Amino acid sequence: MLTRAGQRCEAVDSLGARCDERATDCDHIERGDDHHTANLQALCRWHHNQKTAREAAEARRARPTRRREPEAHPGLLVQ
Ligand SMILES: [Zn+2]
Repeated sequence: MLTRAGQRCEAVDSLGARCDERATDCDHIERGDDHHTANLQALCRWHHNQKTAREAAEARRARPTRRREPEAHPGLLVQ
């Protein structure tokens, strides 16, 4: 996997320029359990962290927000 990428990060920026950092991480392009090489890319640590953070933010947005009702402080409960 990392050999296919020539040990280089495969991330491409919005201008089409490829990152040239040394690839240290193996990333799933689409999240999940597809481990075929077509779904894998070599990334440097920085790009992998960027992608992971973005996916986590998207997952948070996708989840319906459920907020618990605030509980009264136990010391304030009327006995
Ligand atoms: Zn990179």
